[in-house]
This record gives sequence, C-alpha cells and structure tokens, in this order.
Amino acid sequence: MVNDYEVEFRNYLKERALKFTPERQLILKTVFSLHKHFDIDQLWERLHKKDNRLSRATIYRTLPLLVDCNLIQETFRCQGRVQYEHIFGHQHHDHMVCIKCGKVIEFRNEEIERLQEEICKKYHFKPVEHRLGIRGYCQKCQSK
Ligand SMILES: [Zn+2]
Ligand SMILES: [Zn+2]
Ligand SMILES: [Zn+2]
Repeated sequence: MVNDYEVEFRNYLKERALKFTPERQLILKTVFSLHKHFDIDQLWERLHKKDNRLSRATIYRTLPLLVDCNLIQETFRCQGRVQYEHIFGHQHHDHMVCIKCGKVIEFRNEEIERLQEEICKKYHFKPVEHRLGIRGYCQKCQSK
C-alpha cells in the first residue's frame, strides 16, 4: 500500500522532473517512522543501519525537498542542532525546549493561535506558517 505522504512526495518530485529514487524512498519512510523530533545525525545513524551505502550528502540534499513539500519542518534548535519533525497529517503545535536536558514539550493553545491571527490581520499580513519555541528549564532541571 502506498502512503499519503508518499503520493505527496512522488507528485512533488514529478512536478520538478526529479526521480523518486530508492534512496529518497528510504529517507522518506524512515522520517515517517520516527515519532519524535530528530536531527540530521540521528536520522543518518538510523538510515546507515538500513543501508550503509547511503551517504550523508544524499540526506542533506533530500531533507530540503521534504521541507519544501511540507512533509517535514525544521522546528527548533536543541544543543546547537536543528531538530526536524514530520508534520504531514499532524495537527499544528508549538514547542518548549529545555536548554539543559533537551526535553521537549509540545503544546497547542487556541488562544495563542487566535491572537496571532488577530495580530496578522491588524498588520494586513497573510500568515502561512509560524513556529513558536520557548527555551528554558523543565521542571526537573529547575530543581537541580
Ligand atoms: Zn502555534
Ligand atoms: Zn530539563
Ligand atoms: Zn513537535
């Protein structure tokens, strides 16, 4: 069975005269098998176990395509690394990140979402996406 995200990506590539290569397919599948935020190194480690011929360069070239296709997004930086997550088929949410232990809390607050729309309207701005990330210390790290 072909997944929705695969259809999405195939169409995206087709429109740009790019090929749906086995490498791209493997990266796509792996990204959607991860249900947490991940950075490029973590993704590479996982992919390397499945196919040790896959190069880092291929991953670096493929991720921007997945971002552009709205299948994944860059979320926030954690310990200096950009964290990605797949967003296709998922409801929008925002993040709190602990700068000490890296814990990530996902949240969605309708009031915040609504306020942002209101502010955009006020400035005659048409929003497409936003990323709200709050950095700080989680409960555990505060008490240390
Ligand atoms: Zn939001
Ligand atoms: Zn913490
Ligand atoms: Zn998230």
